[in-house]
Amino acid sequence: AKESGRNTWALFDTSLRDQLHDRITLEQALRGAMRRGELYATYQPIIDLASGELDGFETLMRWEHPELGHVPPLRFIPVAEETGMIVEAGAWLLREAAGRLAVWRAERGPDAHPLHMSVNVSVRQLRDRKLVAVVRDVLASTGLPASALWLEITESGVMEDIDTALSTLNELHDLGVVLAIDDFGTGYSSLSYLNRLPVGIVKLDRSFVSEVGRQGANEQIVRAVLAMTSALDLRVVAEGVETEAQRDWLREQGCDLAQGWLFGKPLRAEEHQGRVTAVSRP
Ligand code: C2E
Ligand code: CA
Ligand code: CA
Ligand code: CA
Repeated sequence: AKESGRNTWALFDTSLRDQLHDRITLEQALRGAMRRGELYATYQPIIDLASGELDGFETLMRWEHPELGHVPPLRFIPVAEETGMIVEAGAWLLREAAGRLAVWRAERGPDAHPLHMSVNVSVRQLRDRKLVAVVRDVLASTGLPASALWLEITESGVMEDIDTALSTLNELHDLGVVLAIDDFGTGYSSLSYLNRLPVGIVKLDRSFVSEVGRQGANEQIVRAVLAMTSALDLRVVAEGVETEAQRDWLREQGCDLAQGWLFGKPLRAEEHQGRVTAVSRP
């Protein structure tokens, strides 16, 4: 027993050391990743369920390291947040995505449905005093209307420091930017704060979306969320829609917008070109 105990400890010790090493390697590699041009933006379409038309995109950050290869966001975003690097990287992506949106809107012309761009904003960025100035500057330099820019924040990010978050969110809202609650239903899930926050959009987490449209699925929560958001005059984006059954069910229940592999994966701007310019005119 003693021996196996020691072995267990040794194993644990090794894996802990490995984890620490991985983490340090990742952190060091991430420093300068932006400068070396290893970060890039991808865009995932967001579809209007009633019309089936393209409504906009969410931009998602990608990192391709020469030796580590593709590092998934769920690995590097937390490191970027903890080190504060997300502030600079996030501002860079915001600029990049807004610039891309301005080009796409110009290419589609004034008669087409005006696309929006959704950008994730982490709690670190929300706490940064310069965030509002960065957003204002991005709007001014691209000439985009503020309503074309959606900023996605998480419940937990807001709840961590509600007073600071609230004043920043109110400033952003005053600019005319649209605020969205990301991963709705996974965090504190306290419904009372929804009324206190100047949000216009709720993004229903994929874990709930995967519950709908199949036999015996537990669809009650999604129904309840849709009823509540409609009463509060919020628009809903369903995340992670992968099947036609999910899409059809969500549309029937009055869900406004959807995003997921069924409509398209996150791709580089060039790979979306045809779709963006294929505008259906009345
Ligand atoms: P998120 O904001 O909830 O983004 C949605 C995630 O779901 C993305 O993962 C997207 O690729 C994935 N997804 C979209 N449709 C489907 C689907 O139909 N099925 C499945 N299985 N997955 C789908 P991704 O790109 O790996 O990003 C993971 C998370 O990393 C994001 O979750 C977000 O929290 C964070 N993240 C990514 N880019 C950024 C960024 O630029 N800034 C910040 N602060 N966080 C980011
Ligand atoms: Ca998001
Ligand atoms: Ca999300
Ligand atoms: Ca999610």
